[in-house]
Amino acid sequence: MSSVARQVGERCDVLVIGGGPAGSTAAALLAQHGRHVVLLEKDTHPRFHIGESLLPCNLPIFDRLGVHDEIQELGVLKPGAEMISDATGRSIDFNFATGGDRAFTYSYQVRRADFDAALFANAQRRGARTIEGMRVTDVQFDLARPEAACLVAARSAGGPLRSFAPRFLLDASGRDTFLARRLRLKTPDKRNNTAAVFAHFRNVTCRQDEMAGCISIHLTDDGWFWVIPLRDEVTSVGFVGNPTAFTERSGSPRDLLFQRIRSSPTLQARMSDARLISEVMGTGNYSYRARACWGDGYMMIGDAFAFIDPVFSSGVLLAMTAGELGAEVAHTWLDNRSKGRQLARRSERQLRYGMDRLGWLIYRINTPVMRQMLLAPNNRFRMRDAVTSVLAGHLRGAPGLRLPLLAFKGAYHLLSCASHLGFALPEAPGADFQ
Ligand SMILES: Cc1cc2nc3c(=O)[nH]c(=O)nc-3n(C[C@H](O)[C@H](O)[C@H](O)COP(=O)(O)OP(=O)(O)OC[C@H]3O[C@@H](n4cnc5c(N)ncnc54)[C@H](O)[C@@H]3O)c2cc1C
Repeated sequence: MSSVARQVGERCDVLVIGGGPAGSTAAALLAQHGRHVVLLEKDTHPRFHIGESLLPCNLPIFDRLGVHDEIQELGVLKPGAEMISDATGRSIDFNFATGGDRAFTYSYQVRRADFDAALFANAQRRGARTIEGMRVTDVQFDLARPEAACLVAARSAGGPLRSFAPRFLLDASGRDTFLARRLRLKTPDKRNNTAAVFAHFRNVTCRQDEMAGCISIHLTDDGWFWVIPLRDEVTSVGFVGNPTAFTERSGSPRDLLFQRIRSSPTLQARMSDARLISEVMGTGNYSYRARACWGDGYMMIGDAFAFIDPVFSSGVLLAMTAGELGAEVAHTWLDNRSKGRQLARRSERQLRYGMDRLGWLIYRINTPVMRQMLLAPNNRFRMRDAVTSVLAGHLRGAPGLRLPLLAFKGAYHLLSCASHLGFALPEAPGADFQ
């Protein structure tokens, strides 16, 4: 028997590992349901995190959590996204307000240190017992004790080992993937094996017109950059690329990021006076999914379950959606296991479906046909509105735009076949895809 299993453990209804968007959302909602929930975070808020561009579909979740005003205070209004091609210099706006979905017209860009701290404090205000600087180190299932799903060991720096005996465990440990690693459920996504380098800058030229505050996505031949305006004239810049985009270059993350910026004519033009104001960071082994996201007495939510390339800024929305679903599963499970299982199954289907829809676009983002279609200037059959609604977070297309999204996918397949057969793709600037 392991040292964890020998402990008695502090009892609680639900223990949540990780105080990022997924964990803090779940903990707040469970506490609102009157559950005794403990939220353990290994770091201390505020702490740096990447993932700063949010989607309009995040807003109803902020409302349900009661944090919308706070997020508005700390964020920059985001009216949409622009895509810019290095190959042609052409750019196209995806403006949420004119994208055909009048209910979701804006979102925010946020410093994650402030955003995550606000969500974590909200969970505490709503009654969750939050403990920072407390890393979960071990978990033991298969207990001969029906009153607890598992025993969880955690430790603060230099502190004694503590153990908890929750009736349900939510793993929201992000890319650490605490449970998926332990249960050997994590599988890399071979179709999206990218990596990223990123940092914060001052003096980056950003849009000042009706698209002020938008995220800019600069498309290069082997990847893409994000340019995200934050408060106080700070801009987040990052590059995401295929392995070859990195292996063919050497040096520190800083060297790599600067080389990449210099090799992008459209971004270099905006960064000629830019000043680096943070460390340059990187992350690899990018996309993955766990083979299952729940089991007897536990569920993995957010990046702890799966991660997909953030070109559509979908990570926080997916994490908070999973936080809401995870809270419902745990709440139901505690009263009725069989209903809890049913809900867990349905929630897993919903999460996988959303990621598959996004994956369809992401896996093709570097192909010439997809580039040509995304940068096409017209809106025939409302296909651009449909793409705008995906960029707003409607992973199946907003109501009324599902057929145009299907048409977009159909047009993609037709054009890909034509291109394989040797027909030339329509050329910019009149690039058309219907
Ligand atoms: C390069 C890059 C760019 C991105 N850009 C965007 C973007 O623009 N927009 C967007 O929406 N998303 C973006 N994402 C994705 C986004 O960052 C994540 O999807 C999101 O943060 C997931 O939230 P989470 O709560 O699941 O995990 P996290 O936010 O990672 O939170 C997990 C928390 O768990 C804690 N933790 C981990 N292990 C333990 C442990 N053992 N014990 C206790 N605590 C633990 C961590 O300290 C952390 O606070 C990006 C991701 C990357 C890598």
